[in-house]
Amino acid sequence: MSHGVKVLGVLGAGQMGGGIAQIAATSGIQVKVFDAFPGAIEKCKGVHKKSLGKFVEKGKLAQSDMDAAVARISFTDKLEGLTGCDWIVEAVVEDVKVKKDLFTKLAAMYPDPNVVLASNTSSISITDIATACGSTSGRVVGMHFFNPVPLMQLVEVIPAIQTLPAVVERTVALASAMGKTPLKANDRAGFISNRVLMPMINEAFYAWMEGVAEPQAIDGIMKLGCNFPMGPLTLADFIGLDTCVNIMNVLAEGLNNDRYRACPLLKQLVTAGRMGVKSGRGVYEYPAK
Ligand code: NAD
Repeated sequence: MSHGVKVLGVLGAGQMGGGIAQIAATSGIQVKVFDAFPGAIEKCKGVHKKSLGKFVEKGKLAQSDMDAAVARISFTDKLEGLTGCDWIVEAVVEDVKVKKDLFTKLAAMYPDPNVVLASNTSSISITDIATACGSTSGRVVGMHFFNPVPLMQLVEVIPAIQTLPAVVERTVALASAMGKTPLKANDRAGFISNRVLMPMINEAFYAWMEGVAEPQAIDGIMKLGCNFPMGPLTLADFIGLDTCVNIMNVLAEGLNNDRYRACPLLKQLVTAGRMGVKSGRGVYEYPAK
């Protein structure tokens, strides 16, 4: 089945939205990105130049293809500016209220049920998000990319209870056209990826908090002992510690089990503004940011 996407709308110009916009553009799709927060759009443009520039340096992308990809991406700081899209991927903050509010507005802006409304949520119920679209909830689907989007192969495809089978098929087709490998998971909190990954990251924070080992040792042990490309605390810094807390909250509530409560130290770092790589400091320091 063809995905039928000519213009992709992306909500959120952060780590994930920016990455999704980039790979869509390098796949030949026109992209419109919306972000409401001051500075987010300029930052995203800079990230695109840097990331695509690295592909050019490594000989994996021609300079002309980079220029064409950059030219395919436009930005708006108003939701009303996101017109003319035939598929939307939402990648704003991991907050169910914010997401549902945006999906209600999108459903009104795009009454045509053929316009698919996808969410890149890491953990929030797609069924719940879909309810925000009323009678056209069948076009809502989970399209979960991984960070950094240009490098990570997987897209977890999550149908809500309401999602129409044809929408799932089109999502698989679109992810494949973007050069990714789509794999399906059902709509339970955290799906597969974060249900398995996030409790391990949370446990690493507990181990640090309890003084079992210092962060470098925790990461080194998991890297060398389990052959992970990076340790769980480093990975948390890349994901964003705020996002980790939000995902743990969703797991705790969605799976109705206290063992998924976020570690107090992880929450405290977020309270102190230490979000990870994106804020310049999380578990570790990133002075260049
Ligand atoms: P981020 O903080 O880097 O970016 C979020 C962006 O959304 C910011 O630019 C912010 O300005 C914008 N935003 C927030 N509220 C908005 C609103 N109401 N309207 C418009 N823009 C708004 O976060 P991220 O890491 O890109 O995560 C985004 C989503 O992707 C979350 O749902 C997250 O769970 C999911 N996700 C994250 C990762 C990861 O590793 N970081 C991986 C997969 C999925």
